[in-house]
Amino acid sequence: MLPEYYKNIPQDELHERIEVARKKLGKDVFILGHHYQRDSVIEHVDATGDSLKLSLIAGEQDAAKYIVFCGVHFMAETADIVNHGKKIVTLPDETAGCPMADSAQDKMVRRSWDRLTELMPEARICPITYINSYATLKAFCGENEGTVCTSTNAKDVLIWALKEFDKVFFFPDQHLGRNTAKMLGIPKDEIVLLTRKTTDEELKKAKVILWNGCCPVHDRFQLADVEAARKENPEIKVLVHPEVPEEVADAADFMGSTEYIIRMIENAEPGSAWLVATEVHLVGRLAKNHPDKNIKLLGSPICMCSMMDRTSPEHLLWNLEGLLKGEVINQISVDREVAEQANVAIQRMFELTKKVD
Ligand code: 13P
Ligand code: SF4
Repeated sequence: MLPEYYKNIPQDELHERIEVARKKLGKDVFILGHHYQRDSVIEHVDATGDSLKLSLIAGEQDAAKYIVFCGVHFMAETADIVNHGKKIVTLPDETAGCPMADSAQDKMVRRSWDRLTELMPEARICPITYINSYATLKAFCGENEGTVCTSTNAKDVLIWALKEFDKVFFFPDQHLGRNTAKMLGIPKDEIVLLTRKTTDEELKKAKVILWNGCCPVHDRFQLADVEAARKENPEIKVLVHPEVPEEVADAADFMGSTEYIIRMIENAEPGSAWLVATEVHLVGRLAKNHPDKNIKLLGSPICMCSMMDRTSPEHLLWNLEGLLKGEVINQISVDREVAEQANVAIQRMFELTKKVD
C-alpha cells in the first residue's frame, strides 16, 4: 500500500521527482502506460499502447532491468511471461486488477472445458483466451493447442481457429467473442453463451462457445444513447470498442481496439463529430489532442475503469524511488512453469498477428 509519506508531496515536486528518478535510473528502467491511464501518469511513460502493442514492446526491452507497468495486473503478468522472468516487472499499484479477468477463474474454466470435451469427444475445440485473463488461463490455452487474442487481432485469431478446429471456446469476454464471430458471418444460433442452462444440443450445434463474462466498464454503454445522439445529429459517427454489448456494436459505424480508435480519430476530417464508446481517460485525451474535431464519450454515466485509475503519480514515484534504493516494490512474477506454457499461447498469437499484418 502507498506509504502515507507519498500522499503528501506537493504536485510540482512529485512530477519533478519522477523525472529525476527516471533520469537516474536511465536505461535500467522502461515505463509502459496503457491508454486508459490518467494523463498525469501518461506524461511520464516511455511508451503508450493497447494490450497488444504493450506486450510486444515489453518483449523488446533488451536494455532494461526493470519494466514498470502502468496498467493492470494481467498486463504486467504478460510482460513477465514474454521476458521469461529475466526482467523485473512491477505494477505501481498492486491492487490494479481487472474484473473481467476475475470472472474466469482457472478451476471454473477447466470444469467447463471438461464438460465440452466429454460431451463432444470427437470435436476439435480450440480454447482462446482474451489477453484480459490470468496467466494460468493462458497456460491452459498453451497446453491445449489454443491461443490468446487481444481486441486488435481477435478477428484474425478467430479466422485461424475456425479453419483449424471444429469449434472455439472463447473466454472471458462474451461481447468481444460474439461481436467478432458475428463480424465473420457466423450465424447467431452457432454462437452460444455457456451457462448452467445451456443445453447439450445447443453446445453441439455451436461453432463459438462463449464464457459468461464481460467488462463492467464497456458493458454499461447503451443503445438508447446511440439513438438519442443520432437523433440530435444524424451526421455523427459512432466508434466503439468491441467489448461493448451486441446491440451497441450493431448500431455503431466503426468498431475496433484502442489503437484502432486512436487511428480513426487521427485520420478523421476536421470538423467531424464523433461519439466514442470506450474508457473515459482515452476519450478525454482524444478530445484534448484533436480540438479541431468534435469528440464525445457515448452516454452517461461516465464509463471509467477504476482499476486503471488506481495508478497515480504518487504510486509511480514510490515505485521508482524504491528501485533507486535497490528496493523492488510490487513485483509481478508468474510461476515459471505456468509462464512457459502461457508463453506458448502468446507466441502463437504473435505469429498469427504477424501473418495477418
Ligand atoms: P485494448 O486491448 O484495446 O488495449 O483493451 C484492453 C482493455 O482492457 C480494454 O478494456
Ligand atoms: Fe478490465 Fe474493463 Fe478495465 Fe479493461 S476497462 S482493464 S477489461 S475492467
